[in-house]
Amino acid sequence: MRMILKLKGVSKAYGAQQVLKPISFEVEEGEHICILGPSGCGKSTLLQLVAGLTRIDDGEIEINGVTVEKGKGRYIPPEHRPINMVFQDYALWPHMSVRQNIEYGMKRRKVNKNEMQSRLEHLQSLLKLDGLLERLPAQLSGGQQQRVGIARALATGPRLLLMDEPLSNLDVKLRTDMRGELASLLRELSIATLYVTHDRMEAFTIADRILVLREGGIDQIGTPDELFERPATPWVAQLMGYHNRLRVQFSSQGNLATLAADTPIQGVQITPGAYSGEGVMMLHPENISVCQEPSAINDNLFETEVLQAIYEGTRWRFIVKTDDGQSLHLFHHRRVEPGARLTIQVPAQNVMLYAARAVAGDE
Ligand code: ADP
Ligand code: MG
Repeated sequence: MRMILKLKGVSKAYGAQQVLKPISFEVEEGEHICILGPSGCGKSTLLQLVAGLTRIDDGEIEINGVTVEKGKGRYIPPEHRPINMVFQDYALWPHMSVRQNIEYGMKRRKVNKNEMQSRLEHLQSLLKLDGLLERLPAQLSGGQQQRVGIARALATGPRLLLMDEPLSNLDVKLRTDMRGELASLLRELSIATLYVTHDRMEAFTIADRILVLREGGIDQIGTPDELFERPATPWVAQLMGYHNRLRVQFSSQGNLATLAADTPIQGVQITPGAYSGEGVMMLHPENISVCQEPSAINDNLFETEVLQAIYEGTRWRFIVKTDDGQSLHLFHHRRVEPGARLTIQVPAQNVMLYAARAVAGDE
């Protein structure tokens, strides 16, 4: 498979702050990679380095087979890289019509008139801009402005599309609609894309692979289901919705984890000797069930006390306390009074275990 983007040990500091640790990854032709991480983890900086809007400190960036930057030496500026960018705040030229905004990059790249007209017509239908071409950005809704921003970026025929939280300025409803639309548009175009977001659902909708960025380093890179089924760190697990984080104790044989009052968790596959002492268990609230007939023979049942019951419309969210005093979130379809006992079941195959050393420096 042809690689459109290669990063090799790319790093960036602002003053004393190491914003990006040496980072390496590759993007294949037609592949959509989402860079997922919380605010301030370095997502925009990474995109700006790839675009050439900010200089790297060290490492090498290759786009479409050409080294566009290497250390402090070679540097090809943004306008000579086969890329284009869609910004969070749209960044349309306010004094230019939609048509002029879309044509701008093509004119700079000296695309001939016929070609320009045919691209414009194609983008107009692709992004549903009919009847909007002569308007100014101020005369458009947020969603329309965003579509113009995307059309403008696509007009120059980039080999690599860079998108920095392109939906985050839209209201929630529009955002959810646009997310689906954008995913099918990108699929249709099959242009290699680096898409920055802090929203897991957005990443799941758009991405072929997700790159999880934490404090300027890559925690994990993989397909959405790889990340969900095998989160490499408790932090990735948390990001994937495993909101229950529990202290566990590994037995001296190193092959059993225990939760609450020395109750072993049965059936969890652990490499012997891989863990000892304290560890962390991550559990997805959706994977915990309430056991209504404790008489049925079931593994991994735990007694808990209901602390809080929150009505969420289609179901109840319960916050319960285990016998060793740790709290857990889970869902159930029926109300149970706070203070009541609740037997819960934890399925072994959905338990994510981490050794304490993997957790060091994790928060
Ligand atoms: P994100 O896009 O993930 O929210 P950014 O890449 O914008 O994060 O920023 C990462 C860190 O780098 C932040 O702490 C931010 O304050 C810092 N930073 C970003 N740009 C600059 C800059 N031009 N000068 C100094 N610090 C910066
Ligand atoms: Mg940002």
